Amino acid sequence: MENVVVIVGAGPSGLATSACLSAHSIPHVILEREDIYASLWKKRAYDRVKLHLAKEFCSLPYMPHPADSPTYIPKDIFLKYLDEYVSTFNIQPQYHRSVESACYDEVDGKWRIEARNMQSGDVEVYVAEFLVIASGENSAKYIPDLPGLDSFKGEMIHSNEYKSGSKYANKDVLVVGCGNSGMEISYDLSTFGAQTSIVIRNPFHVVSKEIVRLGMIFSKYLPVFVVDFMVLMMANIKYGDLSKYEIRRPNQGPFHLKATAGRAPVIDVGSVDKIKSKAIKVVPGISRINGKKVLFEDGAEREFDAIVFATGYRSVAKQWLKDYEHVLNENGLPKNNFPHHWKGEKNLHCCGLSRRGLFGLSMDAKAIAKEINRVINEKNGKMKGSRRISSLILCPWVRSPRTFPPSLLVLTANFLLITPNSYFDTRTRVDFTPPCRYSPFQSIACLPPDPVLQRLAT
Ligand SMILES: Cc1cc2nc3c(=O)[nH]c(=O)nc-3n(C[C@H](O)[C@H](O)[C@H](O)COP(=O)(O)OP(=O)(O)OC[C@H]3O[C@@H](n4cnc5c(N)ncnc54)[C@H](O)[C@@H]3O)c2cc1C
Repeated sequence: MENVVVIVGAGPSGLATSACLSAHSIPHVILEREDIYASLWKKRAYDRVKLHLAKEFCSLPYMPHPADSPTYIPKDIFLKYLDEYVSTFNIQPQYHRSVESACYDEVDGKWRIEARNMQSGDVEVYVAEFLVIASGENSAKYIPDLPGLDSFKGEMIHSNEYKSGSKYANKDVLVVGCGNSGMEISYDLSTFGAQTSIVIRNPFHVVSKEIVRLGMIFSKYLPVFVVDFMVLMMANIKYGDLSKYEIRRPNQGPFHLKATAGRAPVIDVGSVDKIKSKAIKVVPGISRINGKKVLFEDGAEREFDAIVFATGYRSVAKQWLKDYEHVLNENGLPKNNFPHHWKGEKNLHCCGLSRRGLFGLSMDAKAIAKEINRVINEKNGKMKGSRRISSLILCPWVRSPRTFPPSLLVLTANFLLITPNSYFDTRTRVDFTPPCRYSPFQSIACLPPDPVLQRLAT
């Protein structure tokens, strides 16, 4: 199948890229291995999860969250928002398509993508001019290889399988990992009455969501070191010295670390108070696991009924992208530094791999669509005399443009069709034979005709 753009993944990154490409009238296809879009949110996010960042930093392109929605959006409202996004932009991913390889054909100058149809088992081949990696930073769960892990006799899950603490009441549960997921899951377990312990080994910043929100607003106007100074001052006033609870702050500030190393601060949902009151017990790193017993680095030993690994995820794009070294590093994340991280070579781009959450992926999607549009326009040869056209008309008699004789279309193009943000020129030769590459027609059906221009045309 020949396409202009293939997007791998129908998470928020794939959806945002699709909406931005549609805004430029660029045909594209999304390949998604699951049976649903935003599978991370729909299938793998725990019940109590809320967006950690304020809603103004969590919307996808062209659709801000409604004014009456809560500042920190819970999962169910976010899912409704995504549903609305998909229907508004008429996004139709191809489901059950797991991309297994993508390589660039130097002769054709095109990408060849192989996807396994998970229902039929067949391998389908897609050819595209542009390839967008939107398969997420969180594609595969990561569990560290701890000595004796296989011998553990209790329940062992990754945070992406965790839904709620309700079934762990009165059980001894160990949470490994003290990022946002680990801290929030510990809080949830403790709230449901589990005897909760959390492994804390590395320094990290703890802030409240309100402090982060202020920091994000400040960072629009102030240098990072000033923002960090203010954020840390507020965090110290709110939490005091947490080192006596084994929570130590890194030497560099939270916004600096986020920008340079992609390390997010922990946004406290109430876990810190529970740690202070010893409802959540802090334990050091694990030396060995033996049956139900866990031996810690300080020599202490305890039995647990369950271990929850909140130890993060890995991007697996490098498993299917051939010659990934040009674009991705060993962790499957972009080699290029921010703000050029999204741009790869040979019309290959990455959306949502900069560890900047929904805010970052929205910026990536807009930049990628703009770049693809630029390349297409350049290739089509923006001719002297072409003009940027701001509205769309579709003559009532042209219901099926592909069946129209090309010569007539070219002759009457200025009256027949005009697409937003497209350069169109009556002298441009357009190939309307299927698959209608670069044709603006593909998006016509979903855009309302302009009544004034329509009258002019008739
Ligand atoms: C618990 C949790 C809470 C979070 N909270 C926030 C928050 O509050 N604010 C924020 O900004 N960010 C948050 N994030 C970050 C999160 O990464 C983004 O919100 C967002 O989901 C990233 O979207 P994405 O499309 O890049 O990746 P994903 O959501 O991971 O989507 C990638 C998609 O690609 C598909 N895919 C992967 N490989 C293939 C393949 N080979 N072939 C076909 N399809 C494939 C996957 O099935 C998936 O549907 C949170 C993340 C987690 C885990």
